[in-house]
Amino acid sequence: MNYRYFTCLFLVVFVISCKTQNTSQKNTEAAVVSTAYYLNTSALLEDVEILSSDAYEGRRTGTNGAALAQEYIVERFAQLGVHPLGSGYLQSFTFQAGKTYHAANVLALIPGTSNTKEYIILSAHYDHEGIQNGEIYNGADDDASGIAALIAFAEYFKENPPKHSVILAAVDAEELGLVGSKYFVENSIIPIENIKLNINMDMISRSDKNQLYAVGSKYYKHLEAPIKNTIPYGNLQLRIGHDGSDKLDDWTYASDHASFHKAGIPFIYFGVEDHKDYHQPTDDYKNIHPDFYKNAVHTILAVFQKLDTMQL
Ligand SMILES: [Zn+2]
Repeated sequence: MNYRYFTCLFLVVFVISCKTQNTSQKNTEAAVVSTAYYLNTSALLEDVEILSSDAYEGRRTGTNGAALAQEYIVERFAQLGVHPLGSGYLQSFTFQAGKTYHAANVLALIPGTSNTKEYIILSAHYDHEGIQNGEIYNGADDDASGIAALIAFAEYFKENPPKHSVILAAVDAEELGLVGSKYFVENSIIPIENIKLNINMDMISRSDKNQLYAVGSKYYKHLEAPIKNTIPYGNLQLRIGHDGSDKLDDWTYASDHASFHKAGIPFIYFGVEDHKDYHQPTDDYKNIHPDFYKNAVHTILAVFQKLDTMQL
C-alpha cells in the first residue's frame, strides 16, 4: 500500500475517532490534517542542514559562500517550478559599508488566485557572518531556518495556491544593516502600494521554552486577531510581544521587517529569543530543535492561511 495514502487514511480515521473529544482538541487535529500533509518537513530540515554546512562558509555578503547560497535557493525554486519575480531570480545591487559590496536578493513569485494585484511578501535573509578568526559562522538558526521555510512554502503553494499573490524574498545583507530588504522596498519591482503585508522569518528553529514570538500587531491592529486565533502546532506557544509594549527586548527594528515598517507596510515578524549560540560559530544544524522548528513553520503557515482569506 502507498505509504502516504495510508498515512492520510489513518489521519482521517483518527480525526473521526476524536470527534467526541473537546472542541479545541478536535480543531487542532483537523488543522494538522489540512496542512501537515503538504509541508515537506524532511526537505525543510535538509535545506537548513545544507545551507548551514561549512561548504557555504557562513554566507557573508559578497563572498563565494553567499554566491553558493544564491545558487542553491535559485535551484530549489526552479526545481519546484516557482517563477522569478523579475526577468531572473536575482535582484542585484551594490552598496558601501566600509568597502563596496556586491549583493543580490533572490525573488520568486507565486501568482494569487483571486487578489492577484495584492502582494504578501514572505521574507528571510540568507546572508550571515561568514568566517571570522578562522571560524565559520554557519548561521543555521540565523537564518538558514527562515530560508528553508520559504522553500517549504514554495512547495506547499504548488498544491495550495494562495489567494493573494506571494513574493518569496530571500534577501541579502541583513547582517550588514538590513540592506537587502531596504533595497527591495526602495526599488520595488511591483508598485509599492500593492504590497499589503510582510511576513518576515528570522531565527525560527529553536527555543528552550518552546516559544515563538510574533511582532507587528501592536502597530497594525488588524493583524492581531489572526495571530491570536491561530491554534499553534504541537506544544509550541505562539506569543505576541517583544514590540515595546512589554519589558522584553523590542524587536520592531531587529530584522528585515523594519524596512517594510519604515515604508508604512504592515508586517509580522516571527522569531525566537536569543540563545547561547546566537551570532556564535556554534549556531550549527546540530543545535537546532527539529520538532520545535517543524511546529513553528506549520504555525506560521496557519497564520498565513488566516491572513490570506482577509481583505488586507
Ligand atoms: Zn538574522
